[in-house]
Amino acid sequence: ARVSASCVRSARGEPINGILTIRDVTREREQEEQRSTFISVISHELQTPIAIIKGYASTLARADARWETKTLRSRLVAIEEEADRLNKLVGNLLYASRIQANGLQMDVAALDLGPLIQKVVRRLRAKSKEVEITLDIPDNLPAVMADRERIEEVLQNLLDNAIKYSPRERVVHISIHATGEEVVVSVRDTGMGISLRDQEQVFERFHRVGDSMTQSTPGAGLGLYICRAIVEAHGGRIWVESTLREGSTFSFSLPREEKAHLPMVVF
Ligand code: ADP
Repeated sequence: ARVSASCVRSARGEPINGILTIRDVTREREQEEQRSTFISVISHELQTPIAIIKGYASTLARADARWETKTLRSRLVAIEEEADRLNKLVGNLLYASRIQANGLQMDVAALDLGPLIQKVVRRLRAKSKEVEITLDIPDNLPAVMADRERIEEVLQNLLDNAIKYSPRERVVHISIHATGEEVVVSVRDTGMGISLRDQEQVFERFHRVGDSMTQSTPGAGLGLYICRAIVEAHGGRIWVESTLREGSTFSFSLPREEKAHLPMVVF
């Protein structure tokens, strides 16, 4: 709390009354902390790809005719990848600030999750050969009421994380099951796991686990925040179960089509 005191005086200057003001500054301090976390996370995330792009561009600018095409191409591919990373970061920042300002507008319809998951998995398998992904999708899965593009983003984010935070073997298992009210999707990895304390916070904006593996992995702590906003805007839930050094399971639920009562805008 911030305390200030002032004194009311008579015409002759004698004190006749005092005013004590006590202001709770917890919220201001929290906002200040958030702002400085934001600036340090974003600066770091911007600096790394910019440094890589600058480094490769400098060597290319000085390349002479003896450089092999293969070498030139690998530098250009690296520049392209880093530009993609910058693009994704800026996209996520805009997304998160739009959520804060206006909530999320949903474009919902009946959606069959099975084929959508298979599509996302196919794309991932084509991109990355070292990842082993297994699927457990039951027949006759009921449809959910959802915004197809946004749920695809949630799946993509959870799968990217499962791979990013698995330093050893990259094995990901996706399962779906239906309950009376909802359909639940789970993404399980055998990666680094998340401590109990961090499990409570990973869905917060800019929260990243403080260990060295996470610090050396690109990311700004926005993916899960965006996932949670999307799932909750559907009237669903998102959560994590995890054991440190063994792996994590991220799950989210969506209301079954016939049970959906959708809030159209949240927050
Ligand atoms: P980012 O990956 O960009 O940092 P996210 O919001 O997606 O941001 O994740 C927040 C943090 O949660 C990550 O920085 C990481 O520390 C932790 N995390 C997320 N997914 C996993 C996972 N599958 N295994 C271990 N840690 C994870």
